[in-house]
Amino acid sequence: NDRLAEVDPEVAKAVDAERHRQQSTLEMIASENFAPASVIEAQGSVLTNKYAEGYPGKRYYGGCEHVDVVEQLAIDRVKQLFGASYANVQPHSGAQANAAAMFALLKPGDTIMGLDLAHGGHLTHGMRINFSGKLYNVVPYQVRDDNHRVDMDEVARLARENKPQMIVAGWSAYPRQLDFKRFRDIADEVGAYLMVDMAHFAGLVAAGLHPNPIEHAHVVTTTTHKTLGGPRGGVILSGNEELTKKFNSAVFPGQQGGPLEHVIAGKATAFKIAASEEFADRQRRTLEGARILARRLQADDAAAAGVQIVSGGTDVHLVLVDLRNSELDGQQAEDRLHEIGITVNRNAVPNDPRPPMVTSGLRIGTPALATRGFGTEEFTEISEVIAEALQPTFDEATSARLRSRVEALATKHPLYPNL
Ligand code: PLP
Repeated sequence: NDRLAEVDPEVAKAVDAERHRQQSTLEMIASENFAPASVIEAQGSVLTNKYAEGYPGKRYYGGCEHVDVVEQLAIDRVKQLFGASYANVQPHSGAQANAAAMFALLKPGDTIMGLDLAHGGHLTHGMRINFSGKLYNVVPYQVRDDNHRVDMDEVARLARENKPQMIVAGWSAYPRQLDFKRFRDIADEVGAYLMVDMAHFAGLVAAGLHPNPIEHAHVVTTTTHKTLGGPRGGVILSGNEELTKKFNSAVFPGQQGGPLEHVIAGKATAFKIAASEEFADRQRRTLEGARILARRLQADDAAAAGVQIVSGGTDVHLVLVDLRNSELDGQQAEDRLHEIGITVNRNAVPNDPRPPMVTSGLRIGTPALATRGFGTEEFTEISEVIAEALQPTFDEATSARLRSRVEALATKHPLYPNL
């Protein structure tokens, strides 16, 4: 018998415990989701054994006839899903998709502009010790103090002043939509490439609930495991025929060796699911849940407890809670929600006075719970639970009561009953 539990009980035990954690608590980390069992099955398949350097029909290894089918399905489906004329499904992660897209279009020392990490950007958009910050000259743009939105006039001013070779539009913690057309106009004016990193909101785009960046950007990158709900991984998309060779060679051999064909199989399945009505319904519930949460956390009792919502609301799948006037910092609030069975992450708010390991905010997202089946009623209840947990009156009795409400919600929407 070579089952995991027999061969390696220590790992098997941790895997079981993690499955139980996912089943019994409520996941509200905005970048997480639950891949369907079909996707997990594809990922756990024999495709993990196959070397397939190259691209479908042009491999450096024999025996690729079946992984070619899988990779071509993934490419065709994701192109169709987002209206792209080119797709590369091989990047192992979102960070590697971004690295490859930048390698394809830039040379070391070029200037890039991206949303400041401290204002909701991603590490790969120019953080100092990330490859992007080391290889390129970074000019970050920020959100405005008064409305917490990206100030496009400021982006235009910085672009004219610094003449970047690339402008990156995209975010990891920003509750609003970006104006892709305006970004492209600015990029065109200064002769820069526009890269849109839609990792967070790709599922909303696929469902037609968020503007599609593909028609505006020279290149679009994404992860496949956030709102899109697939396996962990990255994708590069483009509608620009002239650039496609550069992207292919930047991924392989530029960045990576053998592609993870088992993950690519999971991506193919996830893209099929993302074209379904069930998926669109899930994305609608995701958005509605975030709006319910934003509304509830701005009610009088939350305001009295010093809880505010960055930008006053949300257009996407997450809310950013501003705790600068609360008795709790981000770490304490994260711990408190963890105590009652809700998983979120602390997150810096714009101009956060606290250090990045503590922060004054929480990022709360709804994709994973929407996947679990949550709708209006459940999102209303979980918003009530979170609002009460952030009150100064929180004590042991409240904790026990809220924990049992969380457990009841988890039981009502079972996760992976057959895994
Ligand atoms: N891009 C954005 C906007 C992200 O938020 C993330 C991950 O959080 C990434 C890229 C990186 O993805 P990965 O963690 O797969 O490297």
